[in-house]
Amino acid sequence: MKEKCFANGRIIDVEKGCLRPETEIWVEDGRITRLSRGQAPQDAVDLRGSVVLPGLFNVHTHIQFDSTPAGAVIYASQPRFTLSAVKNLRKYLDSGVTYIRDMGGADYVDLELRNMVREGLVPGPEMAASGKNLSATGGQSWQNGVEVDGKAACIRAVREQCKKDADWIKLMASGGSKTPRTSRYAPQFSLEEMQTVVEEANRLERGVAAHAMGGESARFAAMAGVTSIEHGYFLEEETLDLMAEKGIYYVPTLAISYFLRNNRGKPGVTEEMADKAERDLEVQRRSLLAARERGVVLCVGTDACSPYNDHDGTGHELAAMCECGLTAAEALRAATVNSAKLCGVFAERGSIAPGKRADFALFAENPLEDIAAITRCAAVIQNGKFAKNFVSAGENPQKND
Ligand SMILES: [Zn+2]
Repeated sequence: MKEKCFANGRIIDVEKGCLRPETEIWVEDGRITRLSRGQAPQDAVDLRGSVVLPGLFNVHTHIQFDSTPAGAVIYASQPRFTLSAVKNLRKYLDSGVTYIRDMGGADYVDLELRNMVREGLVPGPEMAASGKNLSATGGQSWQNGVEVDGKAACIRAVREQCKKDADWIKLMASGGSKTPRTSRYAPQFSLEEMQTVVEEANRLERGVAAHAMGGESARFAAMAGVTSIEHGYFLEEETLDLMAEKGIYYVPTLAISYFLRNNRGKPGVTEEMADKAERDLEVQRRSLLAARERGVVLCVGTDACSPYNDHDGTGHELAAMCECGLTAAEALRAATVNSAKLCGVFAERGSIAPGKRADFALFAENPLEDIAAITRCAAVIQNGKFAKNFVSAGENPQKND
């Protein structure tokens, strides 16, 4: 394939957190070959007026669960789950997300769709998937997961998910609002069970993502050495120290509380729910800033499917991070470099550099100046081709050649 040139776009250097002058990005076979200045050929694709970011990440998704004002639709038939997933994959792509890490669903729809996206049969971001989550009997999300109790069952369940070709093991370390009469902070597995899951998953070259709302459940997960802690609303000092020391990633999923608070009074969101979300956000803010202070690596995941938290809302997680006190540059790094490292794909993705995938998210305004710009993705290039074209008929190109 002939080398193609995307010219006149202004790249955000996500590692340094700055906007570069207009640059040419040369692409061949879906990869960046080189960057240049002032060398645009006549047939270059003109990206003038666009701010160019590497394709964004969302490392906590549930593609098959639809978001409704009443919450996620987690009981549905396989055809419905499958079609919802196809529709939601498109939403990620259209909002600038070119890599997702799916955190559990039903019937292994996620694993099949991951393969179909790779085969080019379904449009969507590149994805890693975790199959069925591991729950204690009656524990968080047992309805769609595998219920495991004791060391032998933990080993078997990890092996079973790997046999199905899951990329990640999702461990439900604590309860949460989706499962009645479960505690947010109490561990649902013994420390020994969590350690067993991590040991077996790592032996099979998989990471473990622990759903842990905080408190002792997150501490156990950190002690067990999981790869990432999901949610982590309330993180104790000891847990944060362990995360920093062991390099455990933090996916705070602020979007859940953020959207609830922002949609106070809308159908399905009572005053109590909005109040609680506001209180949660304050607790989350403290954990987030304490984590940042210790150098814990922060990533972007939205857990889309909770009320008003739809699959096209990844940018709002960055807005929520900034509201909590992160800089725009830090939020952008969380959505690119950091999340790419968590997913083990930084050699391929997460910044714009020679050798990497030509996946770009384009914006009309600079999100470094106003992070809200990140919620308005103008166009998306995936593997060097437009996956989403500019909408308005301006000077910008509309075609792939
Ligand atoms: Zn989740």
